[in-house]
Amino acid sequence: MTASTIDRSVIEQLVRNAIRQSGGPASTPVAARGAANPPGWIDGKPNLRVSISARHCHLTDEHVEILFGAGSVLKPEKDLYQDGFYAAEQTVMVVGPRRRMLGSVRVLGPTRPFSQVELALTDSISLGIDAPVRHSGKIDGTPGCVLVGPAGSVQLTQGVIRAARHVHMNFADCDHYGVQNGDMMKLKIVSPDCSVTFEDVLVRADEAAKLEVHIDTDEGNACNLDTATEVTLKKGGCGCEKK
Ligand SMILES: [Zn+2]
Repeated sequence: MTASTIDRSVIEQLVRNAIRQSGGPASTPVAARGAANPPGWIDGKPNLRVSISARHCHLTDEHVEILFGAGSVLKPEKDLYQDGFYAAEQTVMVVGPRRRMLGSVRVLGPTRPFSQVELALTDSISLGIDAPVRHSGKIDGTPGCVLVGPAGSVQLTQGVIRAARHVHMNFADCDHYGVQNGDMMKLKIVSPDCSVTFEDVLVRADEAAKLEVHIDTDEGNACNLDTATEVTLKKGGCGCEKK
C-alpha cells in the first residue's frame, strides 16, 4: 500500500491508535506511519491473532431501549481488538423453548440494524435451539428466541446463529496472503496433543481491520487455544465454497 492509496478512514484510525498509545496527541507524522504500517502490523509484517468469540448478542437501538429502559444506550466496558467495537456493560438473558435459558449473554457494540445472537454449538444444544452456521448478518430463516433485560423483553423472530469462523483483515493483509474478501482460508493451530486445522475460514476484508481470526468457544476449546504454540493462516480451499 502506498501513501496515495491510504483511505481517509485508515488515517483516522491511525490517528486514534497513535493518540491512544501516546496518551495524547500524536507527535509523529501519522500519514508516514500509515505508509509503513497498515493497521495491526508490527515491524512491517502482519501480526496474526486468533481470538475466541464467546457467546454474545448484537442489538438494535430500539431493542436496547426495550431491554434496558427508555433512553438507554450501550455502555462500552471493554474495547475489542478491532477498533470501534466493544463489549458493553449490559448483558441479556437468552431464553429458548421449554424455558431453557442462558443467563448473562454479553451485548457487543455498537448497535446494528438487526439484533442477532451468536452461540457456540454447545450453547445452542443447552438452549434447545438448532442454530445454523451463518456468517454475521445472514440471518434470514434462522431460529428466533426471547431476550430478557432488566426493563423488558424482546421476541426475536430470527437471528440465532452459530457464527461461522472468519478472519478480519485489511487490504495490505490480503495482498500479503494473496486473498480477497470472500475467499476461504485454512488456519492451523499447533497445540500440545490437540493440534487442529480449521478449514472454511472466511476472509472479511475491510480497510481499517486488523488481522484477527474469530472462532467460537467450542473451536477454541477443541485445540486448547490458550496453550497453542503456533498459528498459521494459509490461502486454502478450491474457491468453490465462496459465498
Ligand atoms: Zn469477527
